[in-house]
Order: sequence, then structure tokens, then C-alpha cells
Amino acid sequence: MSPVRAFIGLGSNLDAPTEQLRQALAALQALPHSQWVGASALYSSESLLPGQPLYTNAVAALDTRLAPLELLDALQGIENAQGRVRGERWGPRTLDLDLLLYGQQLIDEPRLVVPHNQLHLRAFVLYPLAELVPAQFSLPDGRSLASLLEACPFEGLVRL
Ligand code: ATP
Ligand code: CA
Ligand code: CA
Repeated sequence: MSPVRAFIGLGSNLDAPTEQLRQALAALQALPHSQWVGASALYSSESLLPGQPLYTNAVAALDTRLAPLELLDALQGIENAQGRVRGERWGPRTLDLDLLLYGQQLIDEPRLVVPHNQLHLRAFVLYPLAELVPAQFSLPDGRSLASLLEACPFEGLVRL
């Protein structure tokens, strides 16, 4: 199987988020059967839910021969290694790794929906993603990243 370019969204709002992301980026660089491509800058933003600490986010890209579910397993392994506790849904977390895109594939399985189902709505995903792809990049459904960015204001996001 030839490698597929995968994009991974990173987020943290507990226990020194910048350090959590630094550690997670190092773990992603060490994933088996995968070639590191690069990462965006770090961004900070308010939580989507009130009363939570500020989030730090980034997006990373790698070319991988891992199958989608193997990659998801690896991402969840990194989350667990960094002390992710699965409590309330969307609760504060040391590390969240979402598989945003896996090439141009559409995946709809109980454990894995790709493209990530909130990708098109989240400034903290779209703006870092835009750092890693060509200006004319489109999602598998044909929507251009430029049109999604236009509909999703940068407001509230701080590039660190
Ligand atoms: P959101 O998905 O809205 O960003 P979240 O990241 O807080 O919320 P989690 O609790 O981390 O959600 O994940 C819940 C489940 O989502 C995971 O156990 C995983 O099986 C599933 N899932 C489905 N699609 C994806 C994806 N593209 N990337 C990561 N997990 C996914
Ligand atoms: Ca998430
Ligand atoms: Ca997640």
C-alpha cells in the first residue's frame, strides 16, 4: 500500500497544554510505518464549553502506511500515555488527537468518522490546517478549504 497523507488535530487544556502538545508532536514523529511531514504553529482559543481552561491546538501531517483504524489506535495510545482520562463528554483533557483527514477517503465506521465531523466548523482546526496544505486544497466532498475558512472567522483564535 502506498502511503496516505493524514492530518491530525491536537488539543489540550490541562496540565501545561503547550508541553502536552510538544510531547504529542514528538510521539507522532515516532509513529511506525509513517513519515513525518510537519506541523502548524500552536494556537490558543477559548473552550467551546464555558468554564473550561483555554485550549491550545495544532494540526500535524504525516504520510502513513497505517490503516485508518490502526492510526486511530496509535493516536488513542498516545492520548492514554499522556494521561487522558475519559470522563464527561468534551470535558477538559490533557490531550486530544483527532484524525481529521486520511487522504481523500470517506470513512464512516462506529469508531471512526473521517473527515472529522466537526472539522469544517472549527477555526482552531481550519486555520492550522491551512498552514499545511496548498491554497486550492479541498475536502473529499469537494468543499474548498478557502470557502470553509471564509465561513469561519479567525476571531477568538490566537496564533502563538
Ligand atoms: P469531538 O469529536 O467533537 O472533537 P472529542 O474529541 O472530545 O469530541 P473523544 O471523547 O475524544 O471526542 O472521542 C470519542 C470517540 O470518537 C472516540 O472514542 C473515537 O472512537 C471516535 N471518533 C470518531 N471519529 C473520530 C476521528 N475522526 N478521530 C478521532 N476519534 C474519532
Ligand atoms: Ca476533538
Ligand atoms: Ca477526540
